[in-house]
Amino acid sequence: MSGTLHPVTPKQDHNYVAFFLTLACNLKCPYCINLHDGGSRYKKANRKHMDVEDWINAANRLVLRDDLPLSLQGGEATMYKGFYRFVNEVKEEIKMDLLTNMMFDVDEFISNVPVWRFTREAPYAAIRVSYHPGQNDIDDLIQKTIKLQDAGFRVGIYGIEHPSIIDFRTKEFLGEWQGNLYGTFKYEGSVYGNELKQSECRTTEIIVDPAGYVYKCHSDLYNGRNPFAHVLDHDFNEASIEEFRPCDFYGECNPCDVKVKTNRYQIFGHTSVEIKGI
Ligand code: SF4
Ligand code: SF4
Repeated sequence: MSGTLHPVTPKQDHNYVAFFLTLACNLKCPYCINLHDGGSRYKKANRKHMDVEDWINAANRLVLRDDLPLSLQGGEATMYKGFYRFVNEVKEEIKMDLLTNMMFDVDEFISNVPVWRFTREAPYAAIRVSYHPGQNDIDDLIQKTIKLQDAGFRVGIYGIEHPSIIDFRTKEFLGEWQGNLYGTFKYEGSVYGNELKQSECRTTEIIVDPAGYVYKCHSDLYNGRNPFAHVLDHDFNEASIEEFRPCDFYGECNPCDVKVKTNRYQIFGHTSVEIKGI
């Protein structure tokens, strides 16, 4: 995986590009969607995390539209040891979004992260903070948000509604809690289904795990299962993303992929994957 990598240019209908820099997290939410269905199975795949140089090379091969940022997520992406180097050294054209629980040191973040990296025209904030009831503290999040806003960052907190000046929105809870399944899903029996079925599936997203492997869905990613490419493969390209691929795990789909949700234009009705032949 050396030499110059040819560019990867997501197509118009590719809605999301995410690097899961790490799946480690400094919170332990009992409803964690990343540990959906069985806990940290990803660990069993025993993959080596990518070096920051490789992540930078991977990001630099992307050619992204103005309305398609590179999303950094996890786990808690800021826990990745090369996080600050990554956000500074990737080519300037790449704008980033950050999904975070904001348990990081805000002063250190402000000193080390260039505001322009997380600045672009969008109907939502580039830094999106999840409030996790019982885990992170809302007053702490509000104080940190105000500090980041004063430093020029655009930050939104997602969780319960709060009557403050801060960009604060709610989002649907996805997954199972106390025996009930939450979320509006396009394909019946796809999440916590009674049986596993075969199907063919394709995605509209580029999702890359901490080791650099690319998957057709979040269920595969969190399980370290059946990657179809590595982000540094020479022959990895945008066309390979949208191929229908066989899957034996319909019924174990992750809510993220089959939930009916808003796309990047904030228009409702989109699902990340398309499934046929169930
Ligand atoms: S903060 Fe997010 S990634 Fe971390 S445990 Fe909670 S839900 Fe999971
Ligand atoms: S059918 Fe479900 S588990 Fe299989 S690839 Fe699609 S989203 Fe993933």
